[in-house]
Amino acid sequence: MLLGCIADDFTGATDLAAMLVANGMRTVQCIGAPRPGQVAPDADAVVVALKSRTAPVAQAVAESLAALTWLRAAGARQILFKYCSTFDSTPEGNIGPVADALLAALEGGFALACPAFPANARSVYQGHLFVGSALLNESGMENHPLTPMKDANLVRVLSQQTEGTVGLVAHAVVAQGAEAIRKAMTALKEQGRRYAIVDAVEDAHLRAIGTAAAGHALITGGSGIAMGLPENFRAAGLLPRREDPGALPDIEGACAVLAGSCSRATLGQIGFARQGVEVYDVDALATPDAARLAADAIAWAETRLGATPIVIAASAPPDKVAALQAALGREAAGALIEDTMARIAEALVARGLRRLVVAGGETSGAVVARLGVASLRIGREIDPGVPWTYAEGTGAPMLLALKSGNFGGRNFFLKAFAMLEEAP
Ligand code: ADP
Repeated sequence: MLLGCIADDFTGATDLAAMLVANGMRTVQCIGAPRPGQVAPDADAVVVALKSRTAPVAQAVAESLAALTWLRAAGARQILFKYCSTFDSTPEGNIGPVADALLAALEGGFALACPAFPANARSVYQGHLFVGSALLNESGMENHPLTPMKDANLVRVLSQQTEGTVGLVAHAVVAQGAEAIRKAMTALKEQGRRYAIVDAVEDAHLRAIGTAAAGHALITGGSGIAMGLPENFRAAGLLPRREDPGALPDIEGACAVLAGSCSRATLGQIGFARQGVEVYDVDALATPDAARLAADAIAWAETRLGATPIVIAASAPPDKVAALQAALGREAAGALIEDTMARIAEALVARGLRRLVVAGGETSGAVVARLGVASLRIGREIDPGVPWTYAEGTGAPMLLALKSGNFGGRNFFLKAFAMLEEAP
């Protein structure tokens, strides 16, 4: 293993892992920190997916340090702490406290911080984070239920979360390339700064920053910051040029989609799939009982399970979601559906399901937990940010695609299965 990554949430971890594969590293994502002594997978990069973004600070720090200890024992030469490209955090943390703890453990002294991800319209200019043309605090993120971002000035935001001081490597320097960035970071470190927010508004900047950070023990940022890192390992002769870093073992078996996201994108994808394959709608309002809902769906699926994909969807438009939430309460409604989908997944895997697409971040979390997935080897992307993966830890290995609700084009579901039939 060359690069060890610690991601503060699950879908963010997959996003990062897909970025590393796209740039030539064979990558495995672990669900939670592996146990001490657990053998490292055969991969160039490992991404440990935590759920630490909004956890209490002490817990986030402890889990991140446990991940760090395992990654270092497994041979990681450089550590990347991955957070959201909208810098999701509160004045208490967890970005600053986790970075502080990792840096102290690595005796690194200094780390850059760059959440920019131009492909997703996140850019950093003069230390200010933009989402498209809006400042972070005018982008909607100021109303986030858990991590409201009310200030776009990342130097200020990070300063609040750390006892260290924070400097800036501004666009004028970044535009000059890797050597200028490296010198600016060295100067800030010598001045005693613990962090530097580094501007980036295009991929070329991220690649140059990656080059400049080749010798850093710790790098922090969004998925974008990873794009320049594999080249450092190739330049050092540590990483071969891989023909197909996203190659996965082929697995035959039945195909299905489980959808628990109610996002507009997922609703559109289900509507599109109805034109080509059979779709079963889970009606939780009629039967608010996970065991019965699951049993009915399993009975429907059992006779249809095979090489042609089927879709089982709890997804509903806003008025129906509101009706279920009014009847049960918001949390109970979500938990009921997540439990239902997890039960369905478990039963269908027992009946031969081996190629599964799950739509919805929380829904994916519930399914992965129920199936006992321990790690995901990351394959090729179906649509940006959503790769096929090879899941281990379940009774039999299987192919999983875990889609955050809003991701993917209208034909995502059928495209995903069609891709498996294509030659690499
Ligand atoms: P996304 O990635 O789009 O946010 P998630 O799976 O994370 O999707 O979240 C969707 C939430 O909505 C889940 O908790 C799921 O259980 C819940 N849900 C799904 N269908 C319904 C429904 N018909 N009514 C109410 N809640 C639902």
